[in-house]
Amino acid sequence: MTRTIPIRNPRTGADDYAITPLDLPALEKRCAELRAGQAAWQALGIEGRARAMIALCDAVDRNYQAILDALCADTGRYDWSVNEIEGLKGITRMRCATAAEAMAEATGGSSDPTLRFRQQYVPYELVGIVSPWNYPLILCMIDAITALLAGCAVAIKPSEVTPRFIRPFRAAIAEVEYLRDVLDLFEGDGETGGWIVDLTDTLVFTGSVPTGRKVQARAASQFKTVFLELGGSDPAVVLDSADPDFAAEIVVRGAVENSGQLCCAIERVYVQRGVYDAVTDRIVARMQALQMNRQDIRQGELGPIIFARQAEILRDQIAEAVARGAKVLTGGRIVESGGGLWCEPTVLAGVTQDMKVMRDETFGPIVPIMAFDTEDEAVALANDTEFGLSAAVIGDEAKAIEVGSRINAGGMWINDFDTMGGVGAKAEKTAFGCSGLGGTRYGYGGFLRFLRKKAIVIRSVAA
Ligand code: NAD
Repeated sequence: MTRTIPIRNPRTGADDYAITPLDLPALEKRCAELRAGQAAWQALGIEGRARAMIALCDAVDRNYQAILDALCADTGRYDWSVNEIEGLKGITRMRCATAAEAMAEATGGSSDPTLRFRQQYVPYELVGIVSPWNYPLILCMIDAITALLAGCAVAIKPSEVTPRFIRPFRAAIAEVEYLRDVLDLFEGDGETGGWIVDLTDTLVFTGSVPTGRKVQARAASQFKTVFLELGGSDPAVVLDSADPDFAAEIVVRGAVENSGQLCCAIERVYVQRGVYDAVTDRIVARMQALQMNRQDIRQGELGPIIFARQAEILRDQIAEAVARGAKVLTGGRIVESGGGLWCEPTVLAGVTQDMKVMRDETFGPIVPIMAFDTEDEAVALANDTEFGLSAAVIGDEAKAIEVGSRINAGGMWINDFDTMGGVGAKAEKTAFGCSGLGGTRYGYGGFLRFLRKKAIVIRSVAA
């Protein structure tokens, strides 16, 4: 039976769009078609597949305005919508440049001169991707690019919160010979996401911890590997040796990128006592200088909270912290404007580790700050979490690396924030704790996780 799902506009609050997910038989048919296309796609070789991926970048450019308009409507923000499109093209080119080296097949001998092996990589036929709403385009494609270059077909189910970009992006894909036979995006909600788990051979799920648990359980019962890229509550540790203004710049950048709707946003800030006042003052000043883009989507750094339910979570976290003694140094409100919901850039002091704002994922432009005395204390506070996505340490470089090495997280930014994009061709990271599961999305491992490994072991028989 056909279902129609109304879609809310984050700037107006109005349901002004709708999606009609495929029913199960139609989805099964389309997934079977993608699977059928995989052998020819694999036969193109890495160079041929890379040519098709570069052709996708050109097709995206031809459909640029339609994709950009849809992303802006999906998310209510302009600059990061442009960045998503440019990022997609940049990551595609970067991955095409290293694909051959990443997937080079080894050969080798053994101590027995009559025994040798050839390593073969066998791509999964059909990879599933289920993705979230915070970066709709990038997060549905970041793993699809490596899966496609590895030789797999790919079925993607983007978030139902931000589905407007799907149609113009599919139009771009339809322009690319070969690729259109092995890549498709499907509108739908959790029901369609579950079917994608069933219909594919392996899956990358990017989203929340609770849904990740469901996805893993469903896949496990079918004996499938899933890669989970989940949430975080990333700490920043500011050491006494840090320049206060520099530290504040990093913290604020890390806390408000995409209005804080970022898995690896800085969500907890621990500042060593000697610079606590100076750093806090500067963070407050920088947060107060930020503008919301309420009147004009192109003006101001902060967009609306994309998902209305997320605004409720932010409101609740701030209220709970204040009720338990935290002090709002700036911001603190969810502002309704023209039907959309914006979170004021907010700084909280006097927070404690047991408050929701410190324990749970925040996903908004909120900076809770706590003082510490010793590095041991900072490491213990940073590690007092179920998550382990990434963390930042700011201060004297050698000391910051030493402290960062003791924090349980896959990405460790030293005197910076989320620069994985710059080194992601080769550097690898995996999530610690509840922030995810499975091999790295970055580096050469980002290709290898879509390949099954076959060792061809050859015994030379004397003639
Ligand atoms: P979500 O878990 O609610 O939804 C993610 C996707 O799962 C959506 O496409 C949804 O339709 C689908 N889904 C829902 N129920 C499902 C089910 N039972 N089976 C299969 N699919 C199902 O997450 P969200 O609210 O869209 O995204 C925000 C979360 O994503 C945050 O926790 C954030 O930290 C996380 N995230 C992680 C990364 C990362 O790389 N680690 C990146 C971005 C976002």
